[in-house]
Amino acid sequence: MTVMSGDEDFALVHRFACSFCDGPIRGPYVLWNCHRDLIICATCCGHIKEGFISDIIVCAGIPESRERARRFLKRMKNRRARNTAPRSPS
Ligand SMILES: [Zn+2]
Repeated sequence: MTVMSGDEDFALVHRFACSFCDGPIRGPYVLWNCHRDLIICATCCGHIKEGFISDIIVCAGIPESRERARRFLKRMKNRRARNTAPRSPS
């Protein structure tokens, strides 16, 4: 991700519109090369920071939480199986 503070990349600025509002890009703006190029104008950055970022963080955390829960339940199941297994005579 690159934050462009001005209109220094003239070709880029005039080739693309904001990925969110389709408005013209003028500095400052964000250029993010992820699975596709996203160019976000300063106005949309202001809107996004109000909730979109936290929604993305929450959404990204759901699979991680599910995986942690799955591993926890697997450990508990294994522990229960060890505790209930018949003991061998000594
Ligand atoms: Zn925009």
